[in-house]
Amino acid sequence: MKYEAVIGLEVHVQLKTQSKIFSASSAEFGGDANSKVDPVVIGMPGVLPVLNKKVVEYAVKMGMATNCTIARHSIFARKHYFYPDLPKGYQISQFEEPICEHGFIEVNADDGEARKINIERIHLEEDAGKSVHAEEYVAKNETLIDLNRAGVPLIEIVTEPDFRSPQEVYQYLTKIRQIVRYLEICDGNMDEGSMRCDANVSIRPVGQPELGTKTELKNMNSIRGVERALEYEIQRQISAVADGESIEQQTLLWNANKNITVAMRSKEYAHDYRYFPDPDLVPVLVSDEWRNSIAESLPELPEARKNRFMAEFKLPEYDATVITEEKELADYFEKAALTSKDPKITSNWIMGDVSRILNDGKITISEFSVPPKGLAELINLVADGTISQKIGKQVLDEILATGASAQKIVEDKGLVQISDVSAIESLVDGVLATHPDEFARFKNGEMKLMGFLVGQIMRASKGKVNPKIANEILRKKIE
Ligand code: ADP
Ligand code: MG
Repeated sequence: MKYEAVIGLEVHVQLKTQSKIFSASSAEFGGDANSKVDPVVIGMPGVLPVLNKKVVEYAVKMGMATNCTIARHSIFARKHYFYPDLPKGYQISQFEEPICEHGFIEVNADDGEARKINIERIHLEEDAGKSVHAEEYVAKNETLIDLNRAGVPLIEIVTEPDFRSPQEVYQYLTKIRQIVRYLEICDGNMDEGSMRCDANVSIRPVGQPELGTKTELKNMNSIRGVERALEYEIQRQISAVADGESIEQQTLLWNANKNITVAMRSKEYAHDYRYFPDPDLVPVLVSDEWRNSIAESLPELPEARKNRFMAEFKLPEYDATVITEEKELADYFEKAALTSKDPKITSNWIMGDVSRILNDGKITISEFSVPPKGLAELINLVADGTISQKIGKQVLDEILATGASAQKIVEDKGLVQISDVSAIESLVDGVLATHPDEFARFKNGEMKLMGFLVGQIMRASKGKVNPKIANEILRKKIE
């Protein structure tokens, strides 16, 4: 029998606000344990939560960026469970009436068609604290509680079970991360837990409309990890069913070292969270006026920017995709392209040499010391033939080392490309005279020696010869 996978995701995004969702202590990551707490966070009796307005603004932005309907009226609910890192005994979340609903994101399905992944809801909630099971404490039979993370604002983005393959999930998560970074509401780092993904997965015979029993996968700390965990789990379920076993509804933890999923707990069929509206919090109201001003503050989003780069700068789709992956890189490109003579050559440089330098130095484009205008100046010197492509790379290294402008480096070092035909001709003659054997074979039709001879000419001129002219002259020699 042929099976298909059915997957739905719950993604938690930590919002990068200064203070917590319902109180004034810092929402910043890290610090000494329990240094970022206050009476609301530790659940003292008699204190009242007060909603941080920025949190709502960020959630609305995310909703708008994912085509959701934004609720004019939404409410908070208490979700009850007992866990040591949850001092109040309930988490403030949203249940009925979330802030955003009915959105979607498109991915490319395996068959090449666009597939709409429906977003059921985006709701607001507070994060819980952390139980620290460090070895030294476990040995003493102790667990420490750190409440720095308690009360950090989260949005949870829940999809319908619309994915049919792990690679669609990979694309979706990449887009979500890209959007939260463009919106500057979260750094999107899964390895640090600022973005977390629970993946629900089931299988069913192709053609069967009913959903199968799902398992829930947790503990993946990269987008690739989510993809791998799903690949593993889908195969596990298919083999289990082939062996006549039935799938048990349970939560599984991904073990990235062993590449397997491990049972964490059997999920009780009916969770009883005893949800009810939080009587301490008033409804969240988003007026049309506020909503419009948030809409106006939205940056151009990745998809729109990619399409504009293709239309405005005539970039191929591949270039536009790579260049708009990160907002900072897109900003850099756009500034450089507006002063350079050729946007396509600009994107070649950014995807090539600049990216290589960033990777080698493990830095981001914002830490790159050559400003966009400086790169554009260099590109223009290459584009108009003043210097060769090869010398251009050398000049870029020199700009990085000295901070001087491309123009100045080229002048000071006499790097201007030799385009004078008679000067090149004498260089060519010199090289042919010192390589008579190769020249003879070249004349006999061994065209692959062209590259060798041009290389020698470049060498003789320290890379300054215009290679196009050198090529032409060489060709003439065998006519
Ligand atoms: P739960 O009651 O376990 O929280 P929900 O119905 O709220 O389950 O769904 C949680 C997530 O699981 C959603 O993203 C949803 O799309 C997904 N999901 C629900 N049923 C299935 C299924 N049978 N197979 C795969 N994913 C599912
Ligand atoms: Mg649920």
